[in-house]
Amino acid sequence: MALELPTSLSPSKVSSFTDCALAFRFASIDRIPQAPTAAMVKGTLVHSALERLFALDPAERNLPNAHLCLADARVAIEADPEWIELALDDQLEPKFMAEAATLVDKYFQLEDPSTITPVGLEMQLEFDLDGIFLRGIIDRLEENAAGELIITDYKTGRAPAPAFQKARLGGVHFYSLLCERVLGRRPAKVQLLFLGQPVVIDTVPTDQSTRQLENKLRAVWSAIETGCEREDFRPKPSKLCSWCDYQKWCPEFGGDPSLARAESEALREQAKAATAALTDGAAVALP
Ligand code: SF4
Repeated sequence: MALELPTSLSPSKVSSFTDCALAFRFASIDRIPQAPTAAMVKGTLVHSALERLFALDPAERNLPNAHLCLADARVAIEADPEWIELALDDQLEPKFMAEAATLVDKYFQLEDPSTITPVGLEMQLEFDLDGIFLRGIIDRLEENAAGELIITDYKTGRAPAPAFQKARLGGVHFYSLLCERVLGRRPAKVQLLFLGQPVVIDTVPTDQSTRQLENKLRAVWSAIETGCEREDFRPKPSKLCSWCDYQKWCPEFGGDPSLARAESEALREQAKAATAALTDGAAVALP
């Protein structure tokens, strides 16, 4: 029996498939959720703070207001399942928030937000590339003084070494393609703002980079189709294995991929039952 194809391709799915086809299968075909990490949730929080900052009038986009936006984002994330699952205690949360505030401070070393004219924030764009459904969310689309479009993607992780920068720009080229096909205009520049260092990496999309990306997307989709038909997604061991949530089902670690879906569903059901029982006040053992 063939596996079900994923419904769409996004920059994160392309990079997940390229990093390890088996981990991609677990995440995007078997849909086994990965446990949220503090770094991931911090990224969500800072993105939300910057989105709120750019919703203000240009003159109000200053550092004190950015910290207020971060505080608002913290309130808004309260009901987010990933925030709840992270379960930061009274000692960890102040440290977590201080690190998020530092990222906001460093953002101001990269640019002056009062000079930027956003035309879209957290824009979800979708496009059908010859039967491949492409989907992506652009953190910020802006127009410069010359009326050109610029795409900005915020990153809260570490900037790559120069040798790996081209690969990291694959995601923003994906956004550029979406922008060109959906809005009818190719951006003049796409940039990654790495807030932690802080540093900007940018590139100019061209006919050639667009063509290369389209060819890559067709090749990736074709490989996914073949993998689904043959139920064959190979592991690709790397240093990423150290953080992989799927080790227990990975043959490289003695696991059996065919058990992943059923076992993860059973774990989810147990967790749901435990949460419901805790809500009812009963004592249960969490899985
Ligand atoms: S443990 Fe490594 S090889 Fe196995 S699925 Fe995860 S990333 Fe791939």
